Amino acid sequence: MKNRPAPATRLAQALRFMDETTGAIIPPIQPAATYARGPDYVERTSKVYRRDSNQTTEHAEKIIADLEDAEETMLFSSGMSAAVAVMEALPAGAHVVIPDVMYHGVVQQFRRYADMNRLEISTYQTANLADMQTALRQGETALVWVESPNNPDWDVTDIAEAAKIAHAAGALLLTDCTATPPCCTRALDLGADISFHSATKYLNGHSDVTAGALSVRATNPLWAQIYDIRKLQGTVLHSFDAFLLIRGMRTLMLRVEKATENALSLAGHFEGHPMVERVLFPGLPSHPGYEIAKRQTGGLYGGMLSIITRGTEQTAIDTARFCEVFYPATSLGGVESLIEHRKTVSGEGFKVHPNLLRLSIGIEDVGDLIADLEQALRRAGG
Ligand SMILES: *Cc1c(COP(=O)(O)O)cnc(C)c1O
Repeated sequence: MKNRPAPATRLAQALRFMDETTGAIIPPIQPAATYARGPDYVERTSKVYRRDSNQTTEHAEKIIADLEDAEETMLFSSGMSAAVAVMEALPAGAHVVIPDVMYHGVVQQFRRYADMNRLEISTYQTANLADMQTALRQGETALVWVESPNNPDWDVTDIAEAAKIAHAAGALLLTDCTATPPCCTRALDLGADISFHSATKYLNGHSDVTAGALSVRATNPLWAQIYDIRKLQGTVLHSFDAFLLIRGMRTLMLRVEKATENALSLAGHFEGHPMVERVLFPGLPSHPGYEIAKRQTGGLYGGMLSIITRGTEQTAIDTARFCEVFYPATSLGGVESLIEHRKTVSGEGFKVHPNLLRLSIGIEDVGDLIADLEQALRRAGG
């Protein structure tokens, strides 16, 4: 074949896996905790123990690396364990620049490290590049963290510009584009050094695995540190979960296309609705990040959006409570739609509008989703 197959083809076939001996077209699960040495008493491969990794996880890593245009990908047992490995790999006292509104678990861990003087943290207003520039210290900042679109406001950061700013100061750029997986946003091609994804979300897509992926454009000394941390902490993704992740990724393209289509319809329907103050979705032309999102995702915006309801905080909570099709659950990127009152879920200490409902739009019939939210808003409005 002359041309490299398109991402949809590569994903559907798990990189055209086929077992050479049996012809099986599905990769097996390798569950071994330990591996025997060869007759010469030399290790047969780089994997001698479960914490090193395993063949199933490695296959899943190759699929993500292929999609990301990465030199290498590493999978962890959750997104958080991948994020913590990055923080852990930074030298003591390293200066890190992070957005002021982002995924609460990552902020929490950065704050813990800052509190014990393990890392020094400066924040910038999410998506505001001038503010990011101000937070940077020339020749001193080690890492800039970008989350785009960010939780739970879905502001869009221009990754190519952020990379220029970070690199000019001598810092690495890490992007968390969990809400628009690498079939939408290829952060490494845009200039990021490390691409992070909670693979629990769109990459797996079936709400039955937790996993975290880190991918690098070019391996560097920090990457070697991260590998050692994963090995020593034993946070490598388990082979059973890797098997499920490979299966989930076969339909990534279809799922994200359908979620995007549904989210566009639903966002359009509720924009200007009498019970809704604002719809936050980068796929709406009225969204301030629309142009950048369109460029960065090729129009594949994903299914994450938030709505700010009119009325009181209780009206918003009741809306989530009264839904009958949307599950009142946290997480995102699965085939089933979820709704959550974000302030209740993230807890105190995070900037979030009290009336904000975060919606993860799945692949159900969009008419059912719209009707469900309509009836819940009506009931909550009294
Ligand atoms: C879920 C999520 C994480 C954390 O990943 P887990 O797999 O839940 O540990 C980090 N960042 C973002 C944007 C997320 O949505």
